[in-house]
Amino acid sequence: MDTLFGDLFQATEQQEANFADIILPVPIPKMFTYRIPNALLESIGIGYRVIVQFGKKKILTGIVGKVHQKPPAAYEAKPILDVLDSHATVNPLQIRFWSWMAYYYCCHIGEVMNAALPSGLKLSSESKIQLNPNFDPELSEYPLDDRELIILKALESQEELSYEDCEVLLGVKSIHQIIKSLVIKEAILVFEQVKEKYTPKVEARIRLTQPFATDKAALEQLFVDLSSKPKQEEVVLKYLQEIPVYKDLSLNSKGLEKKVFTEANLSMSSLKTLIKNGVFEEFKIIVSRLEELEDGKEMPSIELSAEQTMAINSIKEQFEEKDTVLLHGITGSGKTEIYIQLIQEALDGGSQVLFLLPEIALTTHIVGRLSKVFGNKMGVFHSKYSDNERVEVWNGVLSGRFPLVVGVRSSIFLPFDSLGLVIIDEEHEASYKQYDPAPRFQARDSGIMLAWLHQAKVLLGSATPSFESYYNARMKKYGYVALNHRYGDAQLPEFQLADVLVDKKKNLLKLDFTRLLRESIQEALNKQEQVLIFQNRRGYAPYVSCDDCGWTPMCEHCDVNLTYHQFGDELKCHYCGFKEKVPTTCDACGSNKIIAVGLGTERIEESLGLLFPEARVVRMDLDTTRSKYGYQRILEEFGGGNVDILVGTQMITKGLDFDRVTVVGIMDADRILNFPDFRSGERAFQQITQVAGRAGRRNQIGKVIVQSRRTDAPIFQWIASGDYGQFYLQEMAERQKYFYPPFVKLIKISTRHKDYKAAERAARILHNLLNDIQVKKIMLGPEKGLVGKIKNQYIFESLVKLDKASTALGKFKDELAIILNEVQSQKDFKGVRIIVDVDPY
Ligand code: ADP
Ligand code: ZN
Ligand code: ZN
Repeated sequence: MDTLFGDLFQATEQQEANFADIILPVPIPKMFTYRIPNALLESIGIGYRVIVQFGKKKILTGIVGKVHQKPPAAYEAKPILDVLDSHATVNPLQIRFWSWMAYYYCCHIGEVMNAALPSGLKLSSESKIQLNPNFDPELSEYPLDDRELIILKALESQEELSYEDCEVLLGVKSIHQIIKSLVIKEAILVFEQVKEKYTPKVEARIRLTQPFATDKAALEQLFVDLSSKPKQEEVVLKYLQEIPVYKDLSLNSKGLEKKVFTEANLSMSSLKTLIKNGVFEEFKIIVSRLEELEDGKEMPSIELSAEQTMAINSIKEQFEEKDTVLLHGITGSGKTEIYIQLIQEALDGGSQVLFLLPEIALTTHIVGRLSKVFGNKMGVFHSKYSDNERVEVWNGVLSGRFPLVVGVRSSIFLPFDSLGLVIIDEEHEASYKQYDPAPRFQARDSGIMLAWLHQAKVLLGSATPSFESYYNARMKKYGYVALNHRYGDAQLPEFQLADVLVDKKKNLLKLDFTRLLRESIQEALNKQEQVLIFQNRRGYAPYVSCDDCGWTPMCEHCDVNLTYHQFGDELKCHYCGFKEKVPTTCDACGSNKIIAVGLGTERIEESLGLLFPEARVVRMDLDTTRSKYGYQRILEEFGGGNVDILVGTQMITKGLDFDRVTVVGIMDADRILNFPDFRSGERAFQQITQVAGRAGRRNQIGKVIVQSRRTDAPIFQWIASGDYGQFYLQEMAERQKYFYPPFVKLIKISTRHKDYKAAERAARILHNLLNDIQVKKIMLGPEKGLVGKIKNQYIFESLVKLDKASTALGKFKDELAIILNEVQSQKDFKGVRIIVDVDPY
């Protein structure tokens, strides 16, 4: 280490100059060039993690992006301080992928690195101050002042001090002065200890000692000796029967051992005695935190239907010519079996496979189905995983333990080096888009790019494809395969519209349920069938309001109504988490008539309890599924038949496959339709079709009741007839006319500031600068965001529509980057956060 610090301050002799460009986890638009000290030359390579000093005092983990011979022109390169790896943690394809992502989504490669690397692979360290061994107080001409003397004294007794402590005493400037004067030097010490933030999970186990383990006679003698000690005898017996007597002696966070018997009635103290007497010994092993999957059985003899076989053949044929194929298969058509077949073939050919699923679908039957076939070859990458678990999946991909990964959007960052196939299920799902923080990537689109880098194929699957993908298929950019029948005898459900206004007029609306929906539910209950009720709004009521004057409590920090949650009797902000008690009187007029307005899942659950007192009702939304297995538990209850009616948000629309659901109720279809977004029609079609697809999956025909106040809206006819193609054509005509994707590229640029005026001013200046960029484009805004304030930050937005076919996009992005860089230092942008969102949702 000492030679390294020597290098740090004598960075002059550089005959054999070797340099590395390092990706650092900071929002800065480029890599930084560092010098590779001779001592490290042999042990460095692209994708290795290194430690470098950044700025005056920051020590960061970076990734080597490039090794070369060219010293930087503008500054003197600092040396790399240490190398953390003996093999590349990140491979060259990943670095290309990160660069692409930074470019495409207009962010910095360091931000991509931050999103990509589990934090267990990033090191944290501290700067320290040490006395310079070459410093001789007698010879030094540097006049130490009082404060510096204090530090010198402290260093003499302590060897090192934290940089922060010195900074408090001296201030940054003086520190650098005395570093320059060689009195002290800055050292980076602690990273040895924190090299691995990731800690392997260690468990203690027991085994028989010698001679008992191998010598039969000795063991027989042991039983003779133990004959008067039945409890100890039992422990040994159980052990010999290979019953895992002694499990989970895992070290807890304090390093203490937690000892647990798997067999509760065995005596712990007897075991301790046996260990003390040398019959058993303890030993430690490193175990995986990841759930052990059953070892992959042979392909169960599932016979594909004729339609499925044709689909597979067609997919393979189209893969000859095209990189991406869209599998448009209605709900229940058996897409999973097709995936399984293709995964198997890719794995047999020695390739890696990535299977992407939207967030909430990950714990559903599809993962169970895949794990039955692929068992321990399959790594699951869950968004609720701890950092240590993420590192284990990462290392599992690196080591080849997991040639198949099934995971959420961030699994595109895992260190694949030979992908052959990427499957993106439910490709239309909005949760593939990351909103915040940067990189604001779309995992489907990025997955296609990733596959391209690997020369791999992509299969997109959906019952209701995104318009983008369907458009690409129609334009022959993607291949296309349709499955138009449900597997087996299962039939598509029958749609019925229930007019809320008509029922209201006739006094038939009870607790927001139309007569048709109530009767259908009752009928299903009578036949011991199950019901799903869909409302995409959690809480009890979207807001409360004064019945006399209309006053509505708003969030103190955001420009939104507070949602009423009956559980806890609270008003909550769904944007920032702010909570308050429900007011008993109106703030505006003092009236005490505060009423809950609108429909949330809690209220529907309550109403169902009143309307169907004998039914077992369960609710599934963000509030009831916060725990790691909350979602799974509800699904198991429902699947096991312990629940009659499941009420939920869009969580219930994903990949559930239950035999006994015959009625699906959509409480308020207008809510989905009225959302102010160019995708609202597409979304409504997708959400209603998906949730409807949960009905009648085996032999019964299901019934879908859609409640609406505008039952004559044409979209309902398209949904009812399942005529996606016609619906698509009609919506696309609108999008073309009004310049929306997929006909143009959208970039949304927002400014945020705690002061309204400042946010607006910055937005205006930026808007004008962007407007001046000489490319074919349309610009909208700047206007207050749809939600004008979030977490005390006012938001203004400009929308740019760029011609897709031309070079406009590239040129605009290049100039945007320059503009963003320039405005940063301007007075009007002080404290302003600028957010660029490419392909916003
Ligand atoms: P999708 O994902 O297209 O909605 P699934 O793959 O979930 O449809 O299939 C629907 C149902 O049909 C599932 O219960 C599945 O087990 C069953 N199924 C599909 N294909 C087969 C097959 N070849 N043999 C037996 N069962 C099948
Ligand atoms: Zn009032
Ligand atoms: Zn809020």
